[in-house]
Amino acid sequence: MTEPVVAIVGAGPAGVRAAETLARGGVRPILFDEGERPGGQIYRQPPRGAGRAAAELYGLEAAKAAAIHRVLPDLADRVDYRPQTLVWNVFQSRLDLLGPDGYGEQRFDRLILATGAMDRALPFPGWTLPGVFTLGGAQIALKAQGMSIGRRVALVGAGPLLPLVAHQYAKAGARIVAVLDATPFAAKIAQLPGMLAEPATLVKGLWYTARNRLRGPKVRYGVGAIRAEGRTQVEALVYRDASGTEHRVDCDAIGVSFGLLSETQLADLAGCAFAFDSLTRQWAPERTPEGRSSVPGIYLAGDGAGIGGADRAELQGRRAALAVLEDLGRAIDAAETAGLDRRLARQARFRNALEGAYPYPAHLLEDVADEEMLCRCEGISVGALRDAALTKEVREMNRLKALTRIGMGRCQGRVCGHAAAELLARACGIDIESVGRLRGQPPVKPIPILGGAP
Ligand SMILES: Cc1cc2nc3c(=O)[nH]c(=O)nc-3n(C[C@H](O)[C@H](O)[C@H](O)COP(=O)(O)OP(=O)(O)OC[C@H]3O[C@@H](n4cnc5c(N)ncnc54)[C@H](O)[C@@H]3O)c2cc1C
Repeated sequence: MTEPVVAIVGAGPAGVRAAETLARGGVRPILFDEGERPGGQIYRQPPRGAGRAAAELYGLEAAKAAAIHRVLPDLADRVDYRPQTLVWNVFQSRLDLLGPDGYGEQRFDRLILATGAMDRALPFPGWTLPGVFTLGGAQIALKAQGMSIGRRVALVGAGPLLPLVAHQYAKAGARIVAVLDATPFAAKIAQLPGMLAEPATLVKGLWYTARNRLRGPKVRYGVGAIRAEGRTQVEALVYRDASGTEHRVDCDAIGVSFGLLSETQLADLAGCAFAFDSLTRQWAPERTPEGRSSVPGIYLAGDGAGIGGADRAELQGRRAALAVLEDLGRAIDAAETAGLDRRLARQARFRNALEGAYPYPAHLLEDVADEEMLCRCEGISVGALRDAALTKEVREMNRLKALTRIGMGRCQGRVCGHAAAELLARACGIDIESVGRLRGQPPVKPIPILGGAP
Protein backbone atom coordinates (compact mmCIF):
# COMPACT_ATOMS: atom_id res chain seq x y z
CA MET A 1 0.00 0.00 0.00
CA THR A 2 1.39 3.46 -0.87
CA GLU A 3 1.96 5.85 1.98
CA PRO A 4 -0.32 8.92 2.05
CA VAL A 5 1.36 12.21 1.13
CA VAL A 6 0.88 14.72 3.94
CA ALA A 7 2.09 18.24 3.17
CA ILE A 8 2.46 21.16 5.59
CA VAL A 9 2.92 24.79 4.59
CA GLY A 10 4.75 26.88 7.20
CA ALA A 11 7.63 26.02 9.54
CA GLY A 12 6.58 28.32 12.38
CA PRO A 13 5.51 26.99 15.78
CA ALA A 14 2.29 25.50 14.31
CA GLY A 15 3.86 23.78 11.29
CA VAL A 16 6.89 22.47 13.19
CA ARG A 17 4.74 20.90 15.93
CA ALA A 18 2.42 19.44 13.30
CA ALA A 19 5.40 17.86 11.51
CA GLU A 20 6.75 16.47 14.78
CA THR A 21 3.39 14.96 15.75
CA LEU A 22 2.97 13.33 12.31
CA ALA A 23 6.51 11.95 12.41
CA ARG A 24 5.93 10.44 15.83
CA GLY A 25 2.64 8.99 14.50
CA GLY A 26 4.51 7.15 11.75
CA VAL A 27 3.86 9.52 8.84
CA ARG A 28 6.74 11.33 7.08
CA PRO A 29 5.33 14.76 6.18
CA ILE A 30 6.72 17.19 3.60
CA LEU A 31 7.18 20.58 5.26
CA PHE A 32 7.49 23.64 3.01
CA ASP A 33 8.59 27.10 4.12
CA GLU A 34 9.72 30.05 2.09
CA GLY A 35 12.23 30.99 4.82
CA GLU A 36 15.79 29.75 5.03
CA ARG A 37 15.46 28.33 8.54
CA PRO A 38 12.55 27.12 10.69
CA GLY A 39 10.98 29.17 13.47
CA GLY A 40 8.34 31.31 11.76
CA GLN A 41 7.85 34.92 12.77
CA ILE A 42 8.31 34.78 16.53
CA TYR A 43 11.26 32.38 16.53
CA ARG A 44 12.79 33.70 13.32
CA GLN A 45 16.48 32.72 13.15
CA PRO A 46 19.32 34.88 11.93
CA PRO A 47 21.14 33.70 8.80
CA ARG A 48 23.54 30.80 9.38
CA GLY A 49 26.81 31.91 10.92
CA ALA A 50 25.44 35.24 12.21
CA GLY A 51 26.26 34.00 15.71
CA ARG A 52 23.81 35.99 17.81
CA ALA A 53 22.87 34.54 21.20
CA ALA A 54 19.35 33.15 21.60
CA ALA A 55 18.79 35.03 24.86
CA GLU A 56 19.63 38.29 23.10
CA LEU A 57 17.20 37.59 20.25
CA TYR A 58 14.28 35.95 22.01
CA GLY A 59 14.54 37.22 25.62
CA LEU A 60 12.05 35.43 27.87
CA GLU A 61 11.10 33.14 24.96
CA ALA A 62 14.65 31.81 24.44
CA ALA A 63 13.88 28.33 25.81
CA LYS A 64 10.76 27.98 23.67
CA ALA A 65 12.66 29.18 20.61
CA ALA A 66 15.43 26.64 21.24
CA ALA A 67 12.86 23.85 21.62
CA ILE A 68 11.22 24.71 18.28
CA HIS A 69 14.59 25.06 16.52
CA ARG A 70 15.66 21.59 17.74
CA VAL A 71 12.63 19.72 16.36
CA LEU A 72 13.56 19.43 12.69
CA PRO A 73 17.27 18.60 13.17
CA ASP A 74 16.22 15.90 15.67
CA LEU A 75 13.76 14.43 13.15
CA ALA A 76 15.88 14.95 10.04
CA ASP A 77 15.15 11.52 8.56
CA ARG A 78 11.45 11.55 9.54
CA VAL A 79 10.41 14.92 8.11
CA ASP A 80 11.04 15.94 4.50
CA TYR A 81 11.80 19.61 5.22
CA ARG A 82 11.99 21.91 2.17
CA PRO A 83 13.16 25.40 3.14
CA GLN A 84 13.28 28.37 0.76
CA THR A 85 10.28 26.98 -1.06
CA LEU A 86 7.30 29.22 -1.67
CA VAL A 87 3.93 27.53 -2.11
CA TRP A 88 2.28 29.97 -4.50
CA ASN A 89 -0.89 28.08 -5.38
CA VAL A 90 -3.17 25.24 -4.30
CA PHE A 91 -5.22 23.61 -7.01
CA GLN A 92 -7.31 20.57 -6.10
CA SER A 93 -4.75 18.11 -4.62
CA ARG A 94 -1.65 19.86 -5.95
CA LEU A 95 0.65 22.57 -4.65
CA ASP A 96 2.55 24.83 -7.02
CA LEU A 97 6.03 25.57 -5.73
CA LEU A 98 8.98 27.84 -6.34
CA GLY A 99 12.12 26.57 -4.61
CA PRO A 100 15.90 26.56 -4.91
CA ASP A 101 15.66 24.48 -8.12
CA GLY A 102 12.94 26.59 -9.72
CA TYR A 103 9.30 25.79 -10.28
CA GLY A 104 7.72 22.50 -9.26
CA GLU A 105 4.57 20.74 -8.09
CA GLN A 106 3.64 18.51 -5.19
CA ARG A 107 0.62 16.24 -5.05
CA PHE A 108 -0.88 15.68 -1.58
CA ASP A 109 -3.52 13.56 0.12
CA ARG A 110 -3.71 15.75 3.23
CA LEU A 111 -2.59 19.34 3.64
CA ILE A 112 -2.01 21.34 6.84
CA LEU A 113 -1.89 25.08 6.27
CA ALA A 114 0.14 26.84 8.98
CA THR A 115 0.90 30.05 7.13
CA GLY A 116 0.95 32.53 10.03
CA ALA A 117 0.16 36.23 9.96
CA MET A 118 1.40 39.65 8.95
CA ASP A 119 0.99 43.19 10.28
CA ARG A 120 -2.25 45.05 9.70
CA ALA A 121 -1.49 48.39 8.04
CA LEU A 122 -3.67 51.51 8.02
CA PRO A 123 -2.96 54.64 5.98
CA PHE A 124 -2.10 57.86 7.82
CA PRO A 125 -0.37 61.04 6.64
CA GLY A 126 3.23 60.22 5.82
CA TRP A 127 2.88 56.42 6.10
CA THR A 128 4.76 55.86 2.84
CA LEU A 129 7.78 58.01 3.83
CA PRO A 130 11.13 56.17 3.92
CA GLY A 131 11.76 55.29 7.56
CA VAL A 132 8.23 54.03 8.30
CA PHE A 133 8.30 50.26 8.94
CA THR A 134 5.72 47.81 10.20
CA LEU A 135 6.48 46.54 13.71
CA GLY A 136 6.94 43.09 12.19
CA GLY A 137 9.41 44.54 9.70
CA ALA A 138 11.25 46.26 12.55
CA GLN A 139 11.44 42.91 14.33
CA ILE A 140 12.69 41.12 11.24
CA ALA A 141 15.47 43.72 10.92
CA LEU A 142 16.44 43.00 14.51
CA LYS A 143 16.17 39.19 14.50
CA ALA A 144 17.40 38.43 10.99
CA GLN A 145 19.95 41.20 10.49
CA GLY A 146 20.76 42.36 14.02
CA MET A 147 19.88 45.93 13.02
CA SER A 148 17.66 48.70 14.31
CA ILE A 149 15.41 50.53 11.83
CA GLY A 150 16.87 53.87 12.98
CA ARG A 151 18.86 55.79 15.57
CA ARG A 152 15.85 57.41 17.25
CA VAL A 153 12.87 55.12 16.90
CA ALA A 154 9.22 55.93 17.67
CA LEU A 155 6.75 53.04 17.93
CA VAL A 156 3.02 53.46 17.44
CA GLY A 157 0.06 51.15 17.00
CA ALA A 158 -2.46 48.88 18.64
CA GLY A 159 -1.59 45.37 19.69
CA PRO A 160 0.64 43.34 21.99
CA LEU A 161 3.56 43.58 19.56
CA LEU A 162 3.91 47.25 20.56
CA PRO A 163 5.26 46.80 24.13
CA LEU A 164 7.12 43.68 23.02
CA VAL A 165 9.04 45.33 20.17
CA ALA A 166 9.74 48.35 22.42
CA HIS A 167 11.30 45.99 24.94
CA GLN A 168 13.25 44.00 22.35
CA TYR A 169 14.63 47.13 20.69
CA ALA A 170 15.63 48.78 23.96
CA LYS A 171 17.25 45.54 25.16
CA ALA A 172 19.27 45.36 21.94
CA GLY A 173 20.58 48.88 22.64
CA ALA A 174 18.37 50.89 20.26
CA ARG A 175 17.09 54.29 21.35
CA ILE A 176 13.29 54.26 21.67
CA VAL A 177 11.93 57.81 21.94
CA ALA A 178 8.21 57.05 22.23
CA VAL A 179 5.80 54.13 22.59
CA LEU A 180 2.38 55.39 21.53
CA ASP A 181 -0.58 53.07 21.95
CA ALA A 182 -3.70 54.01 20.01
CA THR A 183 -5.89 52.04 22.42
CA PRO A 184 -6.92 53.22 25.91
CA PHE A 185 -5.19 52.04 29.08
CA ALA A 186 -8.65 51.46 30.61
CA ALA A 187 -9.28 48.67 28.05
CA LYS A 188 -6.31 46.74 29.43
CA ILE A 189 -7.49 47.09 33.02
CA ALA A 190 -10.98 45.95 32.01
CA GLN A 191 -9.60 42.77 30.42
CA LEU A 192 -7.33 41.74 33.31
CA PRO A 193 -9.76 39.10 34.69
CA GLY A 194 -9.97 37.38 31.27
CA MET A 195 -6.20 37.50 30.81
CA LEU A 196 -5.76 35.66 34.12
CA ALA A 197 -6.64 32.51 32.14
CA GLU A 198 -2.93 32.48 31.13
CA PRO A 199 -1.19 34.02 34.19
CA ALA A 200 2.38 33.45 32.93
CA THR A 201 1.71 35.29 29.66
CA LEU A 202 -0.03 38.10 31.54
CA VAL A 203 2.96 38.50 33.88
CA LYS A 204 5.28 38.67 30.87
CA GLY A 205 3.17 41.41 29.28
CA LEU A 206 3.12 43.40 32.53
CA TRP A 207 6.87 43.01 32.86
CA TYR A 208 7.50 44.35 29.32
CA THR A 209 5.18 47.28 30.03
CA ALA A 210 6.87 48.10 33.34
CA ARG A 211 10.38 47.84 31.82
CA ASN A 212 9.38 50.14 28.96
CA ARG A 213 8.14 52.74 31.43
CA LEU A 214 11.30 52.51 33.56
CA ARG A 215 13.58 52.97 30.56
CA GLY A 216 12.18 56.45 30.07
CA PRO A 217 10.70 56.85 26.57
CA LYS A 218 7.34 58.60 26.33
CA VAL A 219 4.67 55.93 26.86
CA ARG A 220 1.16 57.14 26.02
CA TYR A 221 -2.22 55.47 25.58
CA GLY A 222 -5.30 56.45 23.58
CA VAL A 223 -3.36 58.51 21.03
CA GLY A 224 -4.93 59.60 17.73
CA ALA A 225 -4.40 61.72 14.60
CA ILE A 226 -0.93 60.29 13.99
CA ARG A 227 1.22 61.77 11.23
CA ALA A 228 4.76 61.05 10.02
CA GLU A 229 6.61 64.17 8.98
CA GLY A 230 9.77 64.67 6.95
CA ARG A 231 10.96 65.96 3.59
CA THR A 232 12.65 62.95 2.06
CA GLN A 233 12.44 60.62 5.07
CA VAL A 234 10.96 60.47 8.55
CA GLU A 235 11.95 63.38 10.80
CA ALA A 236 9.13 63.34 13.34
CA LEU A 237 5.98 61.62 14.51
CA VAL A 238 3.09 63.91 15.42
CA TYR A 239 0.11 62.67 17.45
CA ARG A 240 -2.76 63.87 19.61
CA ASP A 241 -2.94 62.62 23.19
CA ALA A 242 -6.17 61.40 24.80
CA SER A 243 -7.10 64.97 25.80
CA GLY A 244 -6.70 66.22 22.21
CA THR A 245 -3.39 68.08 22.64
CA GLU A 246 -0.94 67.73 19.75
CA HIS A 247 2.66 66.59 20.37
CA ARG A 248 5.71 66.17 18.14
CA VAL A 249 8.41 63.53 18.70
CA ASP A 250 11.66 63.90 16.76
CA CYS A 251 12.74 60.56 15.31
CA ASP A 252 14.33 59.08 12.19
CA ALA A 253 12.30 55.87 12.06
CA ILE A 254 8.79 54.77 12.97
CA GLY A 255 7.59 51.23 13.68
CA VAL A 256 3.84 50.94 13.27
CA SER A 257 1.25 48.16 13.41
CA PHE A 258 -2.46 47.88 14.13
CA GLY A 259 -2.67 44.22 15.05
CA LEU A 260 -2.12 41.14 12.91
CA LEU A 261 -3.90 39.75 9.86
CA SER A 262 -4.02 36.02 9.11
CA GLU A 263 -2.34 34.88 5.89
CA THR A 264 -5.39 33.15 4.46
CA GLN A 265 -4.71 33.15 0.71
CA LEU A 266 -3.85 29.46 0.34
CA ALA A 267 -6.91 28.42 2.37
CA ASP A 268 -8.98 30.58 0.06
CA LEU A 269 -7.50 28.97 -3.06
CA ALA A 270 -8.10 25.53 -1.53
CA GLY A 271 -11.81 26.41 -1.39
CA CYS A 272 -12.17 26.64 2.41
CA ALA A 273 -15.30 28.37 3.72
CA PHE A 274 -14.62 31.66 5.55
CA ALA A 275 -16.42 33.38 8.42
CA PHE A 276 -16.19 36.96 9.64
CA ASP A 277 -14.71 37.45 13.11
CA SER A 278 -16.23 40.61 14.57
CA LEU A 279 -13.66 40.76 17.40
CA THR A 280 -10.67 41.14 15.07
CA ARG A 281 -12.71 42.58 12.16
CA GLN A 282 -11.30 40.09 9.67
CA TRP A 283 -12.34 37.06 7.66
CA ALA A 284 -10.78 33.74 8.58
CA PRO A 285 -11.17 30.22 7.23
CA GLU A 286 -13.55 28.18 9.38
CA ARG A 287 -11.93 25.43 11.40
CA THR A 288 -13.22 22.94 13.90
CA PRO A 289 -11.53 22.84 17.33
CA GLU A 290 -9.53 19.86 15.98
CA GLY A 291 -8.22 21.90 13.03
CA ARG A 292 -10.34 20.52 10.19
CA SER A 293 -11.39 23.03 7.54
CA SER A 294 -14.63 22.87 5.55
CA VAL A 295 -12.75 21.00 2.75
CA PRO A 296 -12.05 17.31 3.43
CA GLY A 297 -8.29 16.71 3.59
CA ILE A 298 -7.38 20.36 4.35
CA TYR A 299 -6.44 21.26 7.93
CA LEU A 300 -5.63 24.63 9.51
CA ALA A 301 -3.30 25.50 12.38
CA GLY A 302 -1.82 28.61 13.97
CA ASP A 303 -2.27 32.29 13.19
CA GLY A 304 -3.09 31.62 9.53
CA ALA A 305 -6.66 30.80 10.47
CA GLY A 306 -7.20 33.36 13.26
CA ILE A 307 -4.72 35.15 15.49
CA GLY A 308 -3.96 33.16 18.62
CA GLY A 309 -0.28 33.65 19.46
CA ALA A 310 2.70 31.32 19.42
CA ASP A 311 1.80 28.98 22.30
CA ARG A 312 -1.64 28.44 20.83
CA ALA A 313 -0.09 27.89 17.38
CA GLU A 314 2.04 25.04 18.78
CA LEU A 315 -1.00 23.37 20.35
CA GLN A 316 -3.08 23.83 17.19
CA GLY A 317 -0.29 22.34 15.08
CA ARG A 318 -0.21 19.24 17.26
CA ARG A 319 -4.00 19.03 17.33
CA ALA A 320 -4.38 19.34 13.54
CA ALA A 321 -1.73 16.63 13.02
CA LEU A 322 -3.62 14.31 15.37
CA ALA A 323 -6.78 14.97 13.33
CA VAL A 324 -4.85 14.01 10.17
CA LEU A 325 -3.62 10.79 11.80
CA GLU A 326 -7.14 9.98 13.00
CA ASP A 327 -8.59 10.60 9.50
CA LEU A 328 -5.89 8.31 8.05
CA GLY A 329 -7.10 5.59 10.37
CA ARG A 330 -4.06 5.66 12.67
CA ALA A 331 -4.44 5.14 16.39
CA ILE A 332 -4.20 8.33 18.44
CA ASP A 333 -4.04 8.87 22.18
CA ALA A 334 -7.46 10.05 23.42
CA ALA A 335 -5.92 11.46 26.61
CA GLU A 336 -3.50 13.58 24.55
CA THR A 337 -6.28 15.04 22.39
CA ALA A 338 -8.45 15.75 25.44
CA GLY A 339 -5.52 17.51 27.15
CA LEU A 340 -4.83 19.63 24.07
CA ASP A 341 -8.52 20.52 23.72
CA ARG A 342 -8.65 21.71 27.34
CA ARG A 343 -5.55 23.88 26.95
CA LEU A 344 -6.84 25.33 23.69
CA ALA A 345 -10.15 26.27 25.33
CA ARG A 346 -8.31 28.06 28.15
CA GLN A 347 -6.15 29.94 25.69
CA ALA A 348 -9.21 31.02 23.72
CA ARG A 349 -10.43 32.85 26.84
CA PHE A 350 -7.06 34.60 27.19
CA ARG A 351 -6.96 35.47 23.50
CA ASN A 352 -10.41 37.07 23.53
CA ALA A 353 -9.40 39.20 26.51
CA LEU A 354 -6.14 40.22 24.79
CA GLU A 355 -8.05 41.33 21.69
CA GLY A 356 -10.33 43.35 24.00
CA ALA A 357 -7.29 44.96 25.64
CA TYR A 358 -6.21 46.26 22.21
CA PRO A 359 -9.51 47.14 20.51
CA TYR A 360 -9.46 48.05 16.83
CA PRO A 361 -8.37 51.73 16.58
CA ALA A 362 -11.25 52.82 14.32
CA HIS A 363 -10.72 56.47 15.33
CA LEU A 364 -7.53 56.55 13.22
CA LEU A 365 -9.64 56.13 10.07
CA GLU A 366 -11.97 59.01 10.87
CA ASP A 367 -10.02 61.79 9.16
CA VAL A 368 -8.02 59.98 6.47
CA ALA A 369 -7.72 62.57 3.68
CA ASP A 370 -8.66 61.80 0.06
CA GLU A 371 -5.08 62.34 -1.12
CA GLU A 372 -3.59 59.63 1.15
CA MET A 373 -2.12 56.68 -0.72
CA LEU A 374 -4.10 53.49 -0.09
CA CYS A 375 -2.93 50.86 -2.61
CA ARG A 376 0.80 51.37 -2.97
CA CYS A 377 1.29 48.70 -5.64
CA GLU A 378 -1.11 50.39 -8.06
CA GLY A 379 -0.77 53.97 -6.75
CA ILE A 380 -4.48 54.40 -5.87
CA SER A 381 -5.58 57.01 -3.33
CA VAL A 382 -8.28 56.95 -0.65
CA GLY A 383 -10.16 59.53 -2.75
CA ALA A 384 -10.43 57.09 -5.67
CA LEU A 385 -12.06 54.55 -3.34
CA ARG A 386 -14.53 57.16 -2.05
CA ASP A 387 -15.27 58.28 -5.58
CA ALA A 388 -16.08 54.69 -6.60
CA ALA A 389 -18.38 54.36 -3.59
CA LEU A 390 -20.19 57.62 -4.24
CA THR A 391 -20.39 57.84 -8.03
CA LYS A 392 -20.40 54.17 -9.05
CA GLU A 393 -22.26 52.84 -6.02
CA VAL A 394 -19.58 50.26 -5.28
CA ARG A 395 -20.48 48.29 -2.13
CA GLU A 396 -18.29 45.20 -2.42
CA MET A 397 -14.53 44.60 -2.37
CA ASN A 398 -14.13 42.61 -5.60
CA ARG A 399 -16.16 45.17 -7.53
CA LEU A 400 -13.99 47.89 -5.99
CA LYS A 401 -10.91 46.01 -7.20
CA ALA A 402 -12.31 45.64 -10.73
CA LEU A 403 -13.20 49.32 -11.02
CA THR A 404 -10.24 50.96 -9.26
CA ARG A 405 -7.41 48.35 -9.36
CA ILE A 406 -7.13 48.54 -5.53
CA GLY A 407 -5.63 45.19 -4.46
CA MET A 408 -4.71 44.21 -8.03
CA GLY A 409 -0.95 44.74 -7.74
CA ARG A 410 1.98 42.74 -6.45
CA CYS A 411 0.65 42.29 -2.91
CA GLN A 412 -2.81 41.21 -4.16
CA GLY A 413 -4.40 43.27 -1.39
CA ARG A 414 -2.47 41.60 1.45
CA VAL A 415 -1.29 45.05 2.61
CA CYS A 416 -4.12 47.40 1.58
CA GLY A 417 -7.12 45.03 1.46
CA HIS A 418 -8.14 45.38 5.09
CA ALA A 419 -7.88 49.19 5.16
CA ALA A 420 -9.75 49.37 1.83
CA ALA A 421 -12.59 47.30 3.31
CA GLU A 422 -12.79 49.55 6.39
CA LEU A 423 -12.77 52.72 4.27
CA LEU A 424 -15.29 51.36 1.77
CA ALA A 425 -17.66 50.38 4.59
CA ARG A 426 -17.35 53.88 6.05
CA ALA A 427 -17.86 55.59 2.71
CA CYS A 428 -21.05 53.55 2.17
CA GLY A 429 -22.26 53.80 5.77
CA ILE A 430 -22.46 50.00 6.10
CA ASP A 431 -20.62 47.52 8.33
CA ILE A 432 -17.29 46.05 7.23
CA GLU A 433 -18.65 42.51 7.04
CA SER A 434 -21.08 43.58 4.29
CA VAL A 435 -18.32 44.68 1.90
CA GLY A 436 -16.88 41.16 1.90
CA ARG A 437 -13.27 40.28 1.17
CA LEU A 438 -10.99 40.11 -1.85
CA ARG A 439 -11.02 36.69 -3.54
CA GLY A 440 -7.63 34.95 -3.44
CA GLN A 441 -5.69 34.74 -6.68
CA PRO A 442 -2.51 32.82 -7.47
CA PRO A 443 0.32 33.53 -7.11
CA VAL A 444 -0.22 34.36 -3.45
CA LYS A 445 3.11 36.22 -3.41
CA PRO A 446 5.11 37.75 -6.28
CA ILE A 447 7.09 35.24 -8.37
CA PRO A 448 9.30 35.78 -11.42
CA ILE A 449 7.62 35.16 -14.78
CA LEU A 450 10.66 33.33 -16.17
CA GLY A 451 11.10 30.05 -14.37
CA GLY A 452 14.53 30.03 -12.63
CA ALA A 453 15.31 29.88 -8.94
CA PRO A 454 14.12 32.91 -6.89
C1 LIG B 1 6.38 39.92 11.73
C2 LIG B 1 5.79 39.29 12.97
C3 LIG B 1 6.52 39.22 14.15
C4 LIG B 1 6.00 38.60 15.28
N1 LIG B 1 6.74 38.56 16.41
C5 LIG B 1 6.21 38.01 17.53
C6 LIG B 1 6.94 37.99 18.75
O1 LIG B 1 8.06 38.44 18.82
N2 LIG B 1 6.35 37.45 19.83
C7 LIG B 1 5.08 36.92 19.77
O2 LIG B 1 4.58 36.44 20.80
N3 LIG B 1 4.39 36.90 18.65
C8 LIG B 1 4.91 37.46 17.54
N4 LIG B 1 4.17 37.49 16.39
C9 LIG B 1 2.95 36.72 16.36
C10 LIG B 1 3.49 35.31 16.07
O3 LIG B 1 4.02 35.30 14.78
C11 LIG B 1 2.58 34.21 16.08
O4 LIG B 1 1.70 34.18 17.16
C12 LIG B 1 3.25 32.83 15.91
O5 LIG B 1 4.50 32.92 15.29
C13 LIG B 1 2.31 32.05 15.07
O6 LIG B 1 2.90 30.87 14.65
P1 LIG B 1 2.45 30.20 13.28
O7 LIG B 1 3.19 28.93 13.19
O8 LIG B 1 0.98 30.19 13.19
O9 LIG B 1 2.93 31.22 12.16
P2 LIG B 1 4.35 31.86 11.80
O10 LIG B 1 5.27 31.83 12.94
O11 LIG B 1 4.03 33.16 11.19
O12 LIG B 1 4.92 30.88 10.69
C14 LIG B 1 4.35 30.80 9.42
C15 LIG B 1 5.39 30.30 8.47
O13 LIG B 1 4.76 30.01 7.23
C16 LIG B 1 5.62 30.39 6.18
N5 LIG B 1 4.77 30.64 5.02
C17 LIG B 1 3.66 31.42 4.95
N6 LIG B 1 3.12 31.37 3.73
C18 LIG B 1 3.91 30.54 2.99
C19 LIG B 1 3.87 30.10 1.65
N7 LIG B 1 2.89 30.48 0.81
N8 LIG B 1 4.84 29.26 1.21
C20 LIG B 1 5.83 28.85 2.05
N9 LIG B 1 5.93 29.25 3.33
C21 LIG B 1 4.97 30.08 3.80
C22 LIG B 1 6.33 31.62 6.69
O14 LIG B 1 7.59 31.79 6.05
C23 LIG B 1 6.48 31.31 8.18
O15 LIG B 1 7.73 30.73 8.46
C24 LIG B 1 4.70 38.07 15.24
C25 LIG B 1 3.96 38.15 14.05
C26 LIG B 1 4.48 38.76 12.92
C27 LIG B 1 3.65 38.82 11.66
